[in-house]
Amino acid sequence: MNGFSPLTKLLLATHNAGKLVELQEILQPYIPKLYAIKDLGLPEPEETGDSFQSNALLKASLAARASNIPALADDSGIVIPALDGAPGIYSARWAGDKRDFNMAMQKVYHELQYRYQNPRLENFSAYFVCALAVAWPDGYNKIFEGQLNGTLTWPPRGKFGFGYDPIFVPTGYNKTMAELNPSVKNIISHRAQAFTQLKKNFLVL
Ligand code: IMP
Repeated sequence: MNGFSPLTKLLLATHNAGKLVELQEILQPYIPKLYAIKDLGLPEPEETGDSFQSNALLKASLAARASNIPALADDSGIVIPALDGAPGIYSARWAGDKRDFNMAMQKVYHELQYRYQNPRLENFSAYFVCALAVAWPDGYNKIFEGQLNGTLTWPPRGKFGFGYDPIFVPTGYNKTMAELNPSVKNIISHRAQAFTQLKKNFLVL
């Protein structure tokens, strides 16, 4: 497979229903045949990689080999340098089995309080990362990345978005990502940036 041919069919390797809808909406205009992993009955692999890139690649490669169709997977999260990069690839796991992001945001707050003794969260930088991997059944693969820089804030504000959006203020804005209109987030986000790269490389516009 030469990676520079436009993709005409693609398997979306995610078990997250919300992400699947988001991916379908983004890719439907460009790719004639989109498949969902749940329709093929493929199991969800464990995310054992040590980076966003390796986790995205692991998910895409397994799906491509098992289905014989090129597959796309992503991995994303928030990185806080003052916490040595945490929660990073563990962003979803900080929310526990119940995916309780109020708890995950409290954990960020408490970890920073514990380490730095009563700091203002506004003093800490953070960034979101999205790694998108496309893998072909023959082993060829390509990874695209997007990053959105900003600072933390406390208490959480806003009702849009998901995850850590209520405590993240993107650089150049004074609203949290959960206060910004989703149409703005969809232009500036780490995910949007990674998709722009993917489209430039593989999709017929
Ligand atoms: P993944 O499904 O393993 O990629 O999980 C990514 C996790 O990172 C999500 O559950 C969120 O906690 C966090 N995350 C990723 N992107 C965003 C975003 O755009 N806003 C807020 N949180 C995000």
